[in-house]
Amino acid sequence: MMHYSCDFCGKDMTPDGSERYVLKMEAFATAPTAELTDDDLETDHVEEMARLLCEMEDADEEPQPVPTCVKKRFDLCCGCFRRFVRDPLGRETAAKFDFSPN
Ligand SMILES: [Zn+2]
Repeated sequence: MMHYSCDFCGKDMTPDGSERYVLKMEAFATAPTAELTDDDLETDHVEEMARLLCEMEDADEEPQPVPTCVKKRFDLCCGCFRRFVRDPLGRETAAKFDFSPN
């Protein structure tokens, strides 16, 4: 039997009739394709990229590029789901950091 707990508050949501909500998030970078200038076109990007890739391979540490696309999935209890839809980015919570839910 699958056990679920709320990813926000940790409440146990093992199926017993209590409501469970799934939140899927997708964040991705947009490419500024229309912003190319003459300077961009004059630079040899292929050679530059090859040099960068070579440097990255030489490095001991694994490079940590900023991901261009991130997908997340969360399980939410009813209360956290309601809080999320009311304030998806947590701006209200951030503004009232001394607010106590109790
Ligand atoms: Zn919760």
